[in-house]
Amino acid sequence: MRRHLLLLSLLLPVQTAATAATPAVAGDPHGWCRNVTRAIPQIKLTSCISAELKPWAKSVNGRHIMIREFAPAKAPAARVLVIGGIHGDELTSVSIVFRWIEQLKQPAGEASRYQWRVIPVLNPDGLLAKPPTRVNARGVDLNRNFPTENWSREAARYWSVSTRRDPRRFPGTAPGSEPESSWLHNEIKAFKPDVIISVHAPHSVLDFDGPPNVKPPSKFGRLYLHRLGVYPGSLGNFGGLQEGIPVVTLELPHALDMPKEEELAHVWRDMQDWLKRNLVDRKAASAQ
Ligand SMILES: [Zn+2]
Repeated sequence: MRRHLLLLSLLLPVQTAATAATPAVAGDPHGWCRNVTRAIPQIKLTSCISAELKPWAKSVNGRHIMIREFAPAKAPAARVLVIGGIHGDELTSVSIVFRWIEQLKQPAGEASRYQWRVIPVLNPDGLLAKPPTRVNARGVDLNRNFPTENWSREAARYWSVSTRRDPRRFPGTAPGSEPESSWLHNEIKAFKPDVIISVHAPHSVLDFDGPPNVKPPSKFGRLYLHRLGVYPGSLGNFGGLQEGIPVVTLELPHALDMPKEEELAHVWRDMQDWLKRNLVDRKAASAQ
């Protein structure tokens, strides 16, 4: 599996160039967009298609996990991994990532100096279930399934005792047991992002997990920093604490209603400022 993913990573630039000339048909991105925009009417079909997503991995039910990459011509100033739709019933976490893809398509400012890998929907089976579900097709909360060091010791106990066996928070039967979380884990190892930005809803806060030498953002728009703590198997635990990669989690205020345009612009601006000041400038200073 790992060798297969490595091969895919090596093929990515070639695949991007090839599909730029001929509209992508592998994995039928148009069919994927039709399904996703039916589930989330706020996303226009044209905007999904013009996002030019590439099929990259598969869910339990064989649906594609799509990815869009943006890379500058020369060495990137930073690598940024963006993930939406880890929980299938948090529709705004997908919509906002599509908005960011639109922004990134018009290269401007510092953002155009970074290499971005953007995954709008990590849990397509949850999103396309009727009704959409937080968990994946096997009933696993992907954000409790990452292979953290404390998983075997704590995940099942945490689920039984602290959540009282809440089916929405079932961590699975083994760390990284689900294709969606296992693929993302491998992608993080291969891409080595400088920061992971993960979007959820509806708690209306900004959360941060990461090494102590990185200053957490104080706010993105009206989302203020409020550290929620980490859970066995969560992405913040795996990426931020175990791998030492800053993980910024946006919890949008509503799962179904998008923030207003002005607020979206504010969030984007604050996010770009933080990336520049706390990753790129810091990296440049430490290289001197
Ligand atoms: Zn969530």
